[in-house]
Parts: sequence; structure tokens; C-alpha cells
Amino acid sequence: MAQEDIFKKLVAHCKEYGFVFQSSEIYDGLGAVYDYGQNGVELKNNIKKYWWESMVLLHENVVGIDSAIFMHPTIWKASGHVDAFNDPLIDNKDSKKRYRADVLIEEQLAKIEDKINKEIEKAAKRFGDTFNEQQFRETNQRVLENQQKWDALHNRFAKALNDGNLDELRQIIVDEEIVCPISGTRNWTEVRQFNLMFSTEMGSTADGAQKIYLRPETAQGIFVNYLNVQKTGRMKIPFGIAQIGKAFRNEIVARQFIFRMREFEQMEMQFFVKPGTELDWFEKWKTTRMNWHQALGFGTENYRFHVHEKLAHYANAAVDVEYKFPFGFKEVEGIHSRTDFDLSQHEQYSGKKIRYFDPELNESYVPFVVETSIGVDRMFLQVLSAAYCEEQLENDMRVVLKIPPMLAPIKLAVLPLVKKDGLPEIARQIIDDLKFEFNCQYDEKDSIGKRYRRQDAIGTPFCVTVDNQTPEDNSVTIRYRDTMEQKRVSISELSGIIGKQVSFKSLFAKI
Ligand code: ATP
Repeated sequence: MAQEDIFKKLVAHCKEYGFVFQSSEIYDGLGAVYDYGQNGVELKNNIKKYWWESMVLLHENVVGIDSAIFMHPTIWKASGHVDAFNDPLIDNKDSKKRYRADVLIEEQLAKIEDKINKEIEKAAKRFGDTFNEQQFRETNQRVLENQQKWDALHNRFAKALNDGNLDELRQIIVDEEIVCPISGTRNWTEVRQFNLMFSTEMGSTADGAQKIYLRPETAQGIFVNYLNVQKTGRMKIPFGIAQIGKAFRNEIVARQFIFRMREFEQMEMQFFVKPGTELDWFEKWKTTRMNWHQALGFGTENYRFHVHEKLAHYANAAVDVEYKFPFGFKEVEGIHSRTDFDLSQHEQYSGKKIRYFDPELNESYVPFVVETSIGVDRMFLQVLSAAYCEEQLENDMRVVLKIPPMLAPIKLAVLPLVKKDGLPEIARQIIDDLKFEFNCQYDEKDSIGKRYRRQDAIGTPFCVTVDNQTPEDNSVTIRYRDTMEQKRVSISELSGIIGKQVSFKSLFAKI
């Protein structure tokens, strides 16, 4: 099945099974804003727990905070967001659709890359074991031509971005003959900068009201609390501050479901280090974060680092962790070496000293910062994209979400085989005993096969069936979601078997 079809099915599945709903759906929805349903919120909470504990529990020198969404407006002046948090946008005059100019060009680059990859795949099939990819890349005429095209376009694009040259971005779109996917025409407007921050007013009277912004990232809440946390927590450099919270961006192109939203949630950690050591810490956090992703077991080949073409004004190194979504490799997380930019800016704008007194050096300095920043929603989509499977069984088809057990919304379903003979009561008793440890679900409706399918569809790793043998010897069957294997075990063993599988411990051991 084509990857786009799988993605469409996944989106439909998310709605059908209570993971994600369009916001304000009964009013025809609100663009790029989504709500999480009964299963979605559990998965989302588990992702946040995995991140939070991996930061705050596993690192003695990382602590958390929860700062307000509303902040003093000067913060956004100091951070550069008022003047420079822009995307280059371009409109198609026929369809009236708006696009990000950089994204149109990136898609063009991806098309060329696809062509190269297809040639390589074809040749790999033809030559079998004897295929030498490097040699093929260096000698095949079509691959060489496309590689040259890619390099030329890539260099031109990177230069235009670095120079902030909007005319050149437009010229690239014209020269590459990029068409609007809706109208199919090349009737483009100029490229303009568009600020992504939402603003509102605080205060009661129009005169006295102050324009404030909905934060476009959670990081600034950490920077402005650096001194508070360092002093009250008696933190010694190097140390980190972690935070999970909502962020808002008025995205121009808000497509691909929850991949790009206007209201979303971020998990960010700012790590404060001694100047000059930041690139070592950058490498360390790159490794730690990649391990965090790969520990989930979705295949190391599906992740890669993407080094930034254009460094943000505050960074001296930056990479993205990319995952192979059904629509291609895309960013899930950014890791940035932000230098002392933010703290120095806040020193300047607030007039307060934001320093660290280093007892070893016997001097004060503005710390440098390495940031790890990941979107909860994007991570959610990554987990579901990786977990969604359609499996052909002997005389049936099943859709199963192979979500790692520690992240699964429901850990076990308890199912009485029939609604009589005291079996429902035993099932309820099992839930009463286990509900403090695990999220459990009771289900007695329909055939056992249908009930298994329903649990597969929401990713429940264990189904426990109470049958006629249970009243005799206190044994039940436990069915494993991924293998569909069933085992007879004693009720008293359930807590141990399930507890081991759903604990984050095994993941943490890999980070
Ligand atoms: P992109 O290039 O996709 O716009 P970005 O580089 O602007 O993302 P950052 O500012 O580095 O993103 O934000 C860190 C993380 O926050 C991203 O890796 C992503 O997971 C998440 N994120 C950013 N913007 C959005 C959004 N509009 N919707 C959902 N998640 C987002």
C-alpha cells in the first residue's frame, strides 16, 4: 500500500478509536488545532512521562519547572522573536493558497533525492548481492546528473536562506518551475516575511491594555528563571532545566495532521555549561537523545540526524533528529547549541546580571546553553506512524497498534468469556486488584475475537481472559498483542508479568 494511503488510514484510525479529534468539530473545525480523546490523552501523558523521567530522574543535575504561558512582552523582544520569528511565505494567485517558500524548495530537493533513490533501488534489485552502491553512485549517468542538480539547487537555496534573500527564494521557485499543487500554475506572488507569534491584550481598558504574546516556545520561560532555579536549587554548572508546556505558532502551512499545529506542546531542556565546553555537551546530548528515541525499538534505520543548513541567529551548532514518517524523513526534535545569546540578551534588556559564579575559576560568566527541544504531538505522531500495522491473518485482517507497552494507553483488558457463571465478578475483582498499578479496561460485549480486535486497535499489550476454568484453579489466559500467543497463568502472577513489561526501566537502561 502506498505510504500516503497508510497515513490517511492512520488519521482516520486516530479519530475512530478516540486518539485525536479535530478541534471544534461540530462547528466544522479550526485549522491546525486538535483535541486528544480518551486514548490519545493516555498515550500523550505516557510520552511526557517517558521524557520527563529520562531527564529529571536519570540526571541528578537536571531539574524541572513549569512557567506561565503569558510572559512580559519585552522577553520576546530580547529573544529576537518580535523581529525575526518569521517564515518566508508565497501565495499562488490562482488558487489563493499560501505556502512556505522554503518548504516548496525543500520538497523539490526531496523529489530529486527520490529519483536517485529509485535508481539505486532498481539497480540493487537487478544486481543482487554483488551490488556496490558507492560505485553505482559514482558511475551511473542518471544518478550523477541528478546528484549534480541536487547539489546546485541545495547550494543556491542554502545561500539564499543565509542571506535572507527573499527575491532569490522566489527566483529559485520560478527557475525550478515549481507549480502550486492545487491550481497547477506558476502564477506566484512575491515572497514576504510573516511573523508567527499570536498576540492578545492583557488589562481591562483599551488604553491601558498591554500587548502580550502567546509563547512560541517554552525555552524563554526557562531562561528568565535561570537565576531563580540556580540560586534556590544551589545548582552547579553544568546543570539543566526541563519543562513541558504549550506553545503557539501561527503556522502558514498547517498540514499533515498533528505534525504542524498552531497550538502544540513542547518538551524542552536547556543545559547550562561553561563557555568553551558547549560543543562537547552538544555531542553528548545528541547521543543521549538519539538513544532515547531508538530505545523504543522502532528500527534504528528509521532515524537520522539532519545538520542545519542555516543556523538560527543564536546558534553555533544545530541538528534535527529526523524520523521516517509515511511522508518522508521529517524533524521530530531539534538539538541546538544556543551559545550565551539568550541569557546575554535578557541581561541587556532587563538590566539584571544573569551570571554564574564559578568557584573553581573564581570568576563569573554568562553560561552557554545546549538545548534539546521536542514536540509532544510530533512524537505522538511518530509513535503511531511506527506502531500502525495491518496484518493479514488466516481468515481475517487485523489493525494493530504495536505501541511499546510502557506507552500504551490501556495496559490490560480483562474479558470474561461469558457474561454468567460468576466470570464477570472474577474479572471485576482482577481489575480492582490491578487498577492502582495499571490502566485496565473491562469488556464483556461481543465475541472474544471481536474484543481482541478492539484492544489490538488501541494498542493494548495484554488481554486477560477469564474462562470456566478460572473459578476452579484461579488461572486465566493472557494474550500477547504482537504475537497473539496465549498462555495460561495464575491470577497472582499477572501483576509481575505485566509490571515488568510496562515499566520504563528497560528503556532507561538503553539511554
Ligand atoms: P519546523 O522546521 O518543523 O517548523 P522548527 O525547527 O521551527 O520546526 P523548533 O522551533 O526547533 O522547530 O521546535 C522544536 C520542536 O517543536 C520541533 O522539533 C517539533 O517537534 C516541535 N514543533 C515545532 N513547531 C511545531 C508545530 N507547529 N506543531 C507541532 N510541533 C511543532
